Amino acid sequence: KSGFVAIVGRPNVGKSTLMNHIIGQKIAIMSDKPQTTRNKIHGVYTTEDMQIVFLDTPGIHKRQSKLGDFMNTTALNTLGEVEAVLFLVDASEGLGGGDRFIIERLKDVNTPVILVMNKIDRIEPEQLLPLIEQYRELYDFAEIVPISAMLGNNVTTLLEQIGKYL
Ligand code: GDP
Ligand code: MG
Repeated sequence: KSGFVAIVGRPNVGKSTLMNHIIGQKIAIMSDKPQTTRNKIHGVYTTEDMQIVFLDTPGIHKRQSKLGDFMNTTALNTLGEVEAVLFLVDASEGLGGGDRFIIERLKDVNTPVILVMNKIDRIEPEQLLPLIEQYRELYDFAEIVPISAMLGNNVTTLLEQIGKYL
């Protein structure tokens, strides 16, 4: 199995932390080079039976300029060409405007979207289900996977879920 997976999410939800955990420090540092309008490879995860190329898709943000529009278009084109989209959110902060903006953009693509609820180490277990319901009202996610990228909790499950779409 192999394929491309795009990662989207507003700043500070834990995208880099997740990539560090999955791929390792070395490549994650490479991926912190200054961003251009092109989508960059965040890292490649390889095991005996699976290879996933993770693409960072910056630029899905509120329109501010012609360049911003171009970046949004570039990012949206990428989302249409990958096998799956990982939409990372911060479970400890709840559903915010930044998340809603991205969800609206996701409605224009047909690619399966996996909702990754990160930072579950910072919430009480009983907070998770109501939050999931809020997200489910806005979008029909292919999968919903709660994780802690920092602690590595449930990241193996996430990789298994991604594998279903490769
Ligand atoms: P990015 O902007 O989406 O790439 O977010 P980062 O990976 O840089 O993470 C932003 C902040 O959230 C950092 O201080 C991380 O240490 C923290 N963080 C990321 N994942 C987790 C998590 O699972 N739990 C907690 N408690 N903090 C996290
Ligand atoms: Mg980052």
